[in-house]
Amino acid sequence: LSQNSDIVIIGCGAGGGTAAQFARKTDRKSSITVFEKGKYPQYSKCGLPYTISGTIPKMNDLIEFSEEWFKNANINLSLGTTVEKINVDNRIVFAKKGNVVIEKSFGSLIICSGAKPSYPPIRNLEQDGRLVNGVHVVRTIDDAETISSHIKRGGNTTIVGAGLIGLEMADSLHRKGMNVTVVEALPQILLNTLDEDMSKIVHAAVSEKVVILTNHLASKIETKNGKISQVFIKNAETGEEQSINTNLLILATGTKPEISLAKNTGCKIGKTGGIIVDEKSETSVKNIYAAGDCTEYLDFVTKKPIPIGLGSIAVRQAIAAGINAAGGDYKLPEGVLQTRTSEFFGLEIAAVGPATDLLEGMSVVSGKFNGSSLPDYFPGGKPISLKVTVDEKTGRILSAQAVGDNAAQRINTFACAVLGGIVVETFRKLETAYAPPIAPTLDVVTLVCDIVSKKLNRKR
Ligand SMILES: Cc1cc2nc3c(=O)[nH]c(=O)nc-3n(C[C@H](O)[C@H](O)[C@H](O)COP(=O)(O)OP(=O)(O)OC[C@H]3O[C@@H](n4cnc5c(N)ncnc54)[C@H](O)[C@@H]3O)c2cc1C
Repeated sequence: LSQNSDIVIIGCGAGGGTAAQFARKTDRKSSITVFEKGKYPQYSKCGLPYTISGTIPKMNDLIEFSEEWFKNANINLSLGTTVEKINVDNRIVFAKKGNVVIEKSFGSLIICSGAKPSYPPIRNLEQDGRLVNGVHVVRTIDDAETISSHIKRGGNTTIVGAGLIGLEMADSLHRKGMNVTVVEALPQILLNTLDEDMSKIVHAAVSEKVVILTNHLASKIETKNGKISQVFIKNAETGEEQSINTNLLILATGTKPEISLAKNTGCKIGKTGGIIVDEKSETSVKNIYAAGDCTEYLDFVTKKPIPIGLGSIAVRQAIAAGINAAGGDYKLPEGVLQTRTSEFFGLEIAAVGPATDLLEGMSVVSGKFNGSSLPDYFPGGKPISLKVTVDEKTGRILSAQAVGDNAAQRINTFACAVLGGIVVETFRKLETAYAPPIAPTLDVVTLVCDIVSKKLNRKR
């Protein structure tokens, strides 16, 4: 075995870039090499919908850490370089930059290869192994540039998938003057983020701006002059089919972990298809770490494995991977809270913990409160709906969901509760800050807990 202390990182997305930085902070001397197959250094994928809408003026504004930055940190970043093979026994990675083969030995390896898009079974989606002209995913700066080149004021766009990215794209393309139809195979939008009752509030608001077809599947594409012209939409209940004229089709139907390199390393792959990692972000193979969308980790509440698909989690796992790969000692909590948020059509949504349906096998009590962000007498208050779910036996707060003003900050408060195992009885007495232009005396955070506490007492 190689005894060297060199650190090699695969991928320079949110995970890889962060891992490199924290490895360098931990060890000022070791050689750190990052191989990235794309042409850009670390940039924010999360900002892509906002470059398309024009809110972020230039694609390059998304770059968070430049090549120069990596150079100054004495991190050897090799762009346009694809790692093709990992030899675990001899501790060497083989990469290719153009026609040049690079061999690099490592003491520790960090795999941050991200995810690849997963496509629904739509007929004629691909031609010669590539998506038809006018059909796109939103994964890279190149994708965003091509999508932007297809935008036509007054044109029609269809978005397949009503998750967070689908709805962010609906907002962006609506802002650009396109007629937007969102097609969702499931009976509700935002399934992984909100329960059905909470998602209805969002559905009603978003439907005022764009067409949303739940329980509908995109089934077939037709092209004209080599470009998409129509998409066929099938009603999942009745089987009825209709066609929509479409200049641009966006696939926002989720991802699969990119694990092709990890497969032959002996790193264990979990039930959800991601590389299994522990609290140190270490895989089942010693000194091989992994972070981000290529991994699976435990949900904090259910302790069941979940695929990672959030930049917020990728960065935290990568901090652990970088520090530990460089000889430090850093552990994450045993599971992720999945604190998540977004904003579209002026509506903020946020959640922490699993959707209630996923708490199967647990006896839970939920309560909801629809209030205002400000005291009733103060002008400018905005609606805010909060839902909280607790364990029936202990009263421990398991999850919360919010739609409306300052949803994310309110959910961050509940993230503390979930992480700390706080019971709803305690949280109903939480002393929240009050001043008329900022928040009411009793914030919705405490009022919803009051409702759940009372429900819980009645049940007991
Ligand atoms: C449109 C959009 C909006 C999003 N919004 C949010 C949000 O608001 N909040 C949030 O928390 N998350 C959001 N996410 C998710 C977030 O971007 C991802 O969770 C995060 O990027 C994962 O980081 P990663 O490093 O695991 O993967 P990536 O950022 O995908 O990076 C993986 C990198 O590895 C490289 N790579 C892969 N294989 C190889 C190889 N063999 N050799 C060399 N390089 C390789 C790839 O080119 C890529 O650059 C969003 C994602 C998208 C697409």
